[in-house]
Amino acid sequence: MSRAVLSIGSNIGDSLSHLQSVVDGLGDRVLAISPVYSTAPWGGVAQQDFLNAVLVVDDPALDGYGWLRRGQQFEAEADRVRGERWGPRTLDVDIVTCDEVRSDDPELTLPHPRAHERAFVLVPWLDVEPDAVLPVEGEITRVESLLALLDEGERAGVRRTRLVLKRRSQ
Ligand code: ATP
Ligand code: CA
Ligand code: CA
Repeated sequence: MSRAVLSIGSNIGDSLSHLQSVVDGLGDRVLAISPVYSTAPWGGVAQQDFLNAVLVVDDPALDGYGWLRRGQQFEAEADRVRGERWGPRTLDVDIVTCDEVRSDDPELTLPHPRAHERAFVLVPWLDVEPDAVLPVEGEITRVESLLALLDEGERAGVRRTRLVLKRRSQ
């Protein structure tokens, strides 16, 4: 089995539809869907707020690279154009964790090396998995504790919306 935690985000176009396209495309592989959050951009580039969510997914046929490729397909289908680092995008699909895999490969670093610094990942993740843990610098740490370590400003930038991603029968 391959169970992954995906962080999905969008701040160009119909962002909710871009996020929904991932849920639709993964169908029965989606085990849990977080609420949708409106989030302040991360990384210092001035741009629109994002919509973000976290999905827990499972597919015995996919390893980490399989999830990465699948995520990149969804990004391409959303006509994502690669511009400046941490700039605006129609859709971003990041692999936060995949099973217990740890990898230093720049093409697929696992767990995602910046996930523990990002309230827009940790907050929705806790909604769907309150007991989640994440290895940070080799130490298994509760996601709840990682969130508590973040600046108040980082957490305040993540606001729950009434928007929801829906499971649709295929
Ligand atoms: P960040 O990784 O800080 O969230 P980003 O999402 O804007 O930044 P991208 O331009 O989407 O970065 O991706 C850059 C590269 O990161 C991709 O080509 C991909 O191969 C690589 N990458 C490494 N680890 C991961 C991961 N865990 N999930 C997704 N992409 C990853
Ligand atoms: Ca990202
Ligand atoms: Ca990415």
